Order: sequence, then structure tokens, then C-alpha cells
Amino acid sequence: MTPDLSYLKPDAKIGIAGAGLLGQLLAWQLSAAGFRVTLFDAASSAKPQSAAHTAAGMLAPISEAAEAGPDVYAMGVYGIERWREWLSHIGTQASSCLHEHGSLLVAHPQDESELEQFISDTRPLQHYADCSIRHLHRDDLQHLEPDLSGQFQRGLLLSPEAHLDNRQLLQQLSAQISTQDVRVYENTPVSAEPFAIISESTGQKFSFDVVIDCRGAGARAALIQLRAVRGETLHLETCEVTLQRPVRLMHPRYQLYIVPKPGNRFVIGATQIESEDLSPISLQSSLELSSAVYTLAPAFAEARILEAGVNLRPAFANNMPSVCAQRGLISANGLYRHGYLLAPAVVDHVLHLLDAQRQSPFAHLLQARRQRSERRDNSFNSEPVYE
Ligand SMILES: Cc1cc2nc3c(=O)[nH]c(=O)nc-3n(C[C@H](O)[C@H](O)[C@H](O)COP(=O)(O)OP(=O)(O)OC[C@H]3O[C@@H](n4cnc5c(N)ncnc54)[C@H](O)[C@@H]3O)c2cc1C
Repeated sequence: MTPDLSYLKPDAKIGIAGAGLLGQLLAWQLSAAGFRVTLFDAASSAKPQSAAHTAAGMLAPISEAAEAGPDVYAMGVYGIERWREWLSHIGTQASSCLHEHGSLLVAHPQDESELEQFISDTRPLQHYADCSIRHLHRDDLQHLEPDLSGQFQRGLLLSPEAHLDNRQLLQQLSAQISTQDVRVYENTPVSAEPFAIISESTGQKFSFDVVIDCRGAGARAALIQLRAVRGETLHLETCEVTLQRPVRLMHPRYQLYIVPKPGNRFVIGATQIESEDLSPISLQSSLELSSAVYTLAPAFAEARILEAGVNLRPAFANNMPSVCAQRGLISANGLYRHGYLLAPAVVDHVLHLLDAQRQSPFAHLLQARRQRSERRDNSFNSEPVYE
């Protein structure tokens, strides 16, 4: 469904609800393109509440496609290319937020069949020339990541994967937006409708030529098919361990990862629970995340727990993003657990809707997908599973 946006002038007024990942990227790009942009968020940049802030920042097209399929791989590879390009435009500090050293998958000796299963699940990607999965033995693992426990006999190196220092990146993006002519309303929860954004606290109505709803899981009341998937993380600090790349532990019941961050920090994640609960991390999740990280590298034992992050991933029933457009309102949502990976494809599609000169290579996957997906089934199992 392509909306008629032909009424938009080059300096049209655009209102964006939600200043998380999509909202900030769109504000940056649209204001640079000459549109007059106003950005609203329920939280503030000093105390962000977005899933983007909680996320681990992995760009994992192969790992994600093992479950989500080749479309996610293709959009993800495109996403990494776009991040490389975008970050150089945001600034030199932003460029250093992208790390392209691949990622590692390991399994305990008794669980090595999980690695075989992964190879089998990613077989549909084999026809992509750039989809490189290298088998590693113990010595290779120790060479690549000397601080990993020596008990791992086998692993996989996924060379096309990357990771972002996402919190630094969000700060850089926000700083960049502040130098552009974007009006920002913080601590302002809003609802979005065609041509208007309404403050939920004061009832004030702001009129625009077009509104873009990027409220992530906060848009659940407006998008009945949208569900929230709770994710919990631990942020650790230690100078006893150094890792160059994300490491995933493949386990029959869960997959956990460690993502290195600047300043001797690590994000350990993440639970994946079909729940809208935003209360603090459970004891069970915290024990499972901690014991998994300890088996990956026992030197984590002395790490300090700086933070336990909890947030909601916005997801449609098919776990794919969707851009729905009507006159005066575009809704971009459902980035689920691959927000950083797929945001470039989604942002480029929204830009294409507003300016047909811009390319959207994944339009066929992104537009009106929500209409094809099933309505939410409330019978989801609430047992934690892990990404
Ligand atoms: C634990 C965890 C780990 C993750 N790890 C990864 C990863 O490694 N790689 C990856 O690619 N993705 C990851 N993700 C997914 C990624 O974070 C999300 O897909 C992405 O942030 C979604 O972007 P968004 O802009 O749609 O929503 P968000 O980033 O959540 O932004 C939504 C914004 O809208 C605001 N808002 C909400 N309601 C309102 C309202 N009523 N009025 C005004 N503002 C409102 C919120 O404050 C927020 O700032 C992870 C997510 C979680 C939770």
C-alpha cells in the first residue's frame, strides 16, 4: 500500500513520535533532507527508556537468519553497509562505534550438536557468496579470543557479523540532531494520528504535514497486532577479560551472548520472554546469565555488575518489521530483536515513501507486511527462552 504523499513540499513539517532507534535516525535524515522535524519522546536523553538503549548492539545477520530466514540476512547485510556509510556522516567518533571482527559461536563439548543444528538452519544462506561461516577448533578459538575458557573444543566464526557501541552511537546521533534544526520535546508521552501528534499529559495537539509513529513497544495501544517481548541483560565491568567480538553460547535451552563494550564493559544477554512486564530482572534470569558468562570465561567471576537492563522488543506475529502508511501517518515498527540490524532498511523505506527519488531495496518485504501477519495469539508460553 503506497500512500499518496504527493502533497508534501520539500520543507514540509514532519512530527515523529518516539526518539528511540528509528525516531532518531529518521529525525537526523529528514532534517538533513530539508524537512522541518519535531521529535517527541516520553523519556529524556538523560534517562532514555528505549529498547535501543538496552540493546546489545549486535549486527548479526547470520545468527538472526538462522531463525528468521534469508530475508533477514539480506536486509541485515544491507544494514551493515548502511551503518558504515551513515556513521562516517555522523562523525569520526561515531565511525569508531562500528566493530567488524565477526562473531563467535561456541558450545560446551556435550552440546556440540547445537553447532551442527546452526549449520543446518543456515543452509538456505549458502547461495549468498558473502555468507562465510568458518569452523574453528580449540586452538583457533584460543588464538582469536585468548580469554575464553579452554574447555571449548569447537566453534564457528561468522565473519560478516559486527557490533556497535550502541549507547555511544545514540549519544552521537542525539548530538548531531541537536546541531540540526530539529525541535525536541522530551518527557512528553504522545499519541499519533494522521496529521497530528497529541500530548497525552496536556492534550495539546501539534499539527504536521505527516506524522511518523516510531514509539516501538509504546505503540501497542495503536497497533493491535504489535506485541512486546521482554529482554533482560546484565552489564558487567572487569579488566580481567578482553574480547574482540561478540561470543554466543549455543545451548539446548538457551543462547546467551557477551558483547564487548568500551571501558572494560560487557553486555550479557538476553532473555526473551513473551511478556509486557517491565519490572526488574528476575533472580532466575540473573542466575542463568551470570552462570553462562562464568562458563564462557571464568575470569568474569570478579566482574562487577553495573546494571541489569530490562526492556521490551516490539514485534509483530511474524517477527518482521513493517511500515504501514496512510495519508498523513506512517507507522514504522516491529523491529523485534534485530532493530540495529534492520533499522537501515526500514529507515530507507520510510525515506522512499516521503521522497520517491530515494531507493528502498526492501520495499517488497516491508510495506503492509503487518496486514499479512496474524493477529496476536495470547496463548504464548511465558517461560523464558533466550536469543
Ligand atoms: C535486551 C535487548 C537486546 C537487544 N539486542 C539487540 C541487538 O543486539 N541487535 C539488534 O539489532 N537489536 C537488538 N535489540 C532490539 C532493538 O533494541 C529494537 O528492535 C529497537 O530498539 C527498536 O527500535 P524502535 O525505534 O522501534 O523502538 P525503541 O528503540 O524502543 O524506541 C521507542 C521510543 O519511543 C518512546 N516512546 C514510547 N512510547 C511513547 C509515547 N507514548 N510517547 C512518546 N514516546 C514514546 C520510547 O521512550 C523510546 O524512546 C535488543 C532489544 C532488547 C530489549
